[in-house]
Amino acid sequence: MLIVLVGPSGVGKSTISRKLAERMHLKYIVSATTRAKNEKDDLGKIYDHVDEETFFKKLENGEFLEYATVFDEYYGTPKRPTLDYLANGEDVLLEIDVQGAMQVRFQYPDALMIFIMPPDEASLLQRLRERGRDTEESIEKRFRGAKREIWMAKGSRAFDDMVINDDVERAVTEISRLVRQKKSPGGI
Ligand code: 5GP
Repeated sequence: MLIVLVGPSGVGKSTISRKLAERMHLKYIVSATTRAKNEKDDLGKIYDHVDEETFFKKLENGEFLEYATVFDEYYGTPKRPTLDYLANGEDVLLEIDVQGAMQVRFQYPDALMIFIMPPDEASLLQRLRERGRDTEESIEKRFRGAKREIWMAKGSRAFDDMVINDDVERAVTEISRLVRQKKSPGGI
């Protein structure tokens, strides 16, 4: 089963993904990105940081399941590990943006796609500031991007569910329940 977690920058996706992958023994896919590594990356999503030339070589070779441009940088999900895990009957977790999620929805109509929402706009802005990873300009850009992503997600109907991250443990428990429900509808 393919599980896709989407949500705006700063909503707490990486923490939720890590806990969910641990709790449910999901295979977590490492994306490639042209974004430079920064010292706070160890706390967030794990990436394979590559230069633009390498990224485009991979793209031309058909190595990505999906890819997107986010805040002027490229991000892509590698096809190989994802498809191999799925072929082996494993559950795979992707943590990507809305544009990528649309591409996945098209290829895998059966994927479980969940959009993670902040409790409200003010707490999202606070989170973006608190993580201390970005400049004020970048924070404002991410905040505007977040509002656009939420708007797109609500309008797209591509998502199976929306989960509010008001409390990480609660959100992880809710997503675990949605995964189990999708695996055995009507089961306990
Ligand atoms: P960040 O640079 O803050 O780690 O990530 C920026 C955005 O890119 C986030 O919304 C994140 O989910 C998204 N992202 C990370 N990896 C991928 C990927 O492989 N594909 C797509 N489409 N988006 C990604």
